[in-house]
Amino acid sequence: MIIDGERVSVAHRRSLEVINPATETVLGLLPVADESDLDRALEAAARGFQLWRKSSAQERARVLQQAAELMLERQDELAWIATLEEGKTLAEARAEVMMNVGLFNFYAGECQRLYGRALVRPHGQRSIVSKVPVGPVAAFSAWNFPLGNPGRKLGAPIAAGCSVIMKAAEEAPASALGVLQCLLDAGLPGSVAQAVFGIPDEVSRHCIASPVIRKISFTGSTSVGKHLVRLAAEDMKTTTMELGGHGPVIVCDDVDINAVLDVMVPHKFRNAGQVCVASTRFIVQDGIYDEFIAEFTLRTRAIRVGNGLESGVQMGPMANGRGPENIDLLIKDAIAQGATLHCGGHPITGAGFFYAPTVLSGTPITARILNEEPFGPVALINRFESDQQAIDEANRLPYGLAAYVWVNDSRRQRSIANEIEAGMVGVNTINIAGADSPFCGVKWSGHGAENGPEGLDACLITRSIHEA
Ligand code: NAD
Repeated sequence: MIIDGERVSVAHRRSLEVINPATETVLGLLPVADESDLDRALEAAARGFQLWRKSSAQERARVLQQAAELMLERQDELAWIATLEEGKTLAEARAEVMMNVGLFNFYAGECQRLYGRALVRPHGQRSIVSKVPVGPVAAFSAWNFPLGNPGRKLGAPIAAGCSVIMKAAEEAPASALGVLQCLLDAGLPGSVAQAVFGIPDEVSRHCIASPVIRKISFTGSTSVGKHLVRLAAEDMKTTTMELGGHGPVIVCDDVDINAVLDVMVPHKFRNAGQVCVASTRFIVQDGIYDEFIAEFTLRTRAIRVGNGLESGVQMGPMANGRGPENIDLLIKDAIAQGATLHCGGHPITGAGFFYAPTVLSGTPITARILNEEPFGPVALINRFESDQQAIDEANRLPYGLAAYVWVNDSRRQRSIANEIEAGMVGVNTINIAGADSPFCGVKWSGHGAENGPEGLDACLITRSIHEA
């Protein structure tokens, strides 16, 4: 952990093992924060906020830019650590470093454009409307983007002038500490950003109950998100929730199937499917349905699965032992209910949490997998006839994070994209996340945004001063 600028090791504390998911070997022991650790972090965060809220925008920009440069310098080491801890391929881990570099540089610019406004009334009264940092933030991030999630949890609050206590995932602690260390080495005071680990529910309950904390930011499952929002409501703290999804992909019959699959098959199996904006439900038009399944299966069978550190590997293990168990239950349930299995459908034997890339078609909508987020390497392909049917299926679930539409006809592009209930819709593209655009869900996928000016705004409050 890093509390008030100091590294904290296991010593007398309880500990958790950090496991390499590709080999199941123990990488190290992680200290579990006790109440006194958390109280020390809260006290520092209160102090850090008083310091940082008075910093100039130029100072915050300089720290973020310098941290981005350090991340670039350390990219090999950071990517290697992320792959060891989480299992994704080195190329994917490296892409996360670049995500953080882009985000920190974007917020270095954006924090210098935090404008308020002055209202001058006809009778002379002036009102000054200004944006100020919301206060100390408690941020909880998931393991699936071991570098990118911590980058998002830290970048915007620091740009806004907040302090942060981050509890990153216990599965990938060194990755999160590596990101934080870049900020500290860039000159960020130790009281402004800290990292703790522990029993997630103990840490979040303790921090959220503290009057020091004014905002909760969480990336993870919808069920945990709902729990944290309830806790935050007790003290009326603001929340940003990046929760689960069940990404629909509508594929219309006027597309070039091979061009779509060139993009969508690697997208499906990126990080072994453990991505909140993953493509999950392929809703394919009648005329191309059979060919789409055949080609999808051919390409899926050719995916090289292995240790993400090895060159040529296209898909690593799942991040923890729960992953293969959960997905196997969901896939067996779907097959029992009548789905057709085209490939995969089983864990890969031997060391590591590997699951074979899987393709299912004709899954009935009563199957659990078509209602719960599978978060694993499985593509579900079902058919549609009319555009309205495809839209209804896309909107059937309470999730609304990312959706994708592949269609050449420009009128259909607009009508389908407009009707889908999702925070982000990709039309003939998977590129829906950028440093400069809001990353956000609707319905059970959460509220508030990260990235873009909206992500910075989520760390600010608006107040006004009225002068006679
Ligand atoms: P989980 O919800 O138990 O854990 C997800 C993350 O939340 C972990 O990093 C965990 O440490 C943290 N967490 C859990 N309980 C918490 C609490 N009470 N307070 C604070 N943090 C807490 O789920 P899991 O088994 O690790 O992952 C499986 C499910 O999580 C997936 O099916 C998916 O829905 C969801 N998930 C979503 C994202 C995302 O990007 N939105 C990322 C990871 C996991």
